[in-house]
Amino acid sequence: MNDLLLIKNATLVDPEGQYAGMCDLLVKDGHIASIATSGTSMAAPMDTVVLDARGLFLAPGLVDMHVHLRDPGQTHKETIKSGCAAAAAGGFVALAAMPNTSPAADKPEILSYEIEQAATTGVRVFPIAAVSKEQAGKELADFERLAEAGAVAFSDDGHPVRDAAQMLAAMQKAHTLGKRVISHCEDMSLAGKGIVSDTAAARLDVPGIPAAAEAAHAAREAVLAESTGTPVHIAHVSSRFTVALLRDAKRRGAPITCETCPHYFSLDDSLLDTRDADYRMNPPLRQKEDVAAVIEGLQDGTIDAIVTDHAPHTAEEKADFLTAPNGVVGLETSLAVGITYLVRPGHLSMPQLIRKMSSEPAKLLGIDVGTLQVGARADFVLFDPCASWTVQPEALHSKSHNTPYKGMMLYGIVRYTISDGNIVFSKT
Ligand SMILES: [Zn+2]
Repeated sequence: MNDLLLIKNATLVDPEGQYAGMCDLLVKDGHIASIATSGTSMAAPMDTVVLDARGLFLAPGLVDMHVHLRDPGQTHKETIKSGCAAAAAGGFVALAAMPNTSPAADKPEILSYEIEQAATTGVRVFPIAAVSKEQAGKELADFERLAEAGAVAFSDDGHPVRDAAQMLAAMQKAHTLGKRVISHCEDMSLAGKGIVSDTAAARLDVPGIPAAAEAAHAAREAVLAESTGTPVHIAHVSSRFTVALLRDAKRRGAPITCETCPHYFSLDDSLLDTRDADYRMNPPLRQKEDVAAVIEGLQDGTIDAIVTDHAPHTAEEKADFLTAPNGVVGLETSLAVGITYLVRPGHLSMPQLIRKMSSEPAKLLGIDVGTLQVGARADFVLFDPCASWTVQPEALHSKSHNTPYKGMMLYGIVRYTISDGNIVFSKT
């Protein structure tokens, strides 16, 4: 660890709005020791590592509350270590790992394994535990023991919790432990064996997943939350119908929160006409109207957080459009997609984007990240918001390269990721 690290001349992006403009920031023993604003340049004590950040924005380390690390069980796609390397390259210092590993994360030992594997990577992994044993939708997992072992939330993500009574019981149990259930909303009686949006399905003559499959299930969750006062968090919102009903529920005071992913505010289902499985994920890309509604939901606060739903699959697995598994990688493009599609067009300010990628998810999970308060852990990212790059899949740190942004030009390059006062990623 660098005992003393001085970041000079950075432009501070503070989600809490305490600081603005050019700043020097001093890190001591892994914590933020002081911040000097508006030209009051800080002198460097002896033995200080000095990092000149002129032209770079400094923000709290990013937090991704929805990641599939594939480890244990599917380490040919990703390992915890390769996933953490991809995360550091994307500006993330903390990940919440979904439990659909093999075996599923329904036991304390698996949670401990995840935390230990991440320990030396510079990126902290916070496990999300399964709602039901083996994610089979039958018996609830042991929430108390899983919370003791470090579970920050509960989810059967990958699958919906089909039974409403089981969902409510899970929400209530999680709530007594100060946690939330994260609900993958997909009414399987409507979604069937669909692989793309219903509109793309009609063009391509393949089975579709209608927007109603997500929205109908999210409506159930909203009513459960509002009628009982029990919080729930809705995963990866993709449809305009879901945005509208969650907005209404929130306005009435329902304790409901939700997230979306970069692909739902930047891409639409016209890409599916290429019959390339790298554009297939669940929920699927939808219409331009849905993209616009997701952006509006981000603007008015209906959507609380931006997550990647990072879902690595190998090129072999993605080779066949019809049979490929769903999912895209996202850790290394998320910040740039946010800058390119939300900040540059003026939909969100930079602090608003950073809030949805750091302090909001940190709050939802109850973890100590996402702040630039003096005394806080020195977890932050330094990035150049104006620099552009072209996404080359083979250059990604993730073990899998299934990015829907391949060949696209994005703005925003992460230069340094700093975790606990240590530089864990740099690109100069
Ligand atoms: Zn999901």
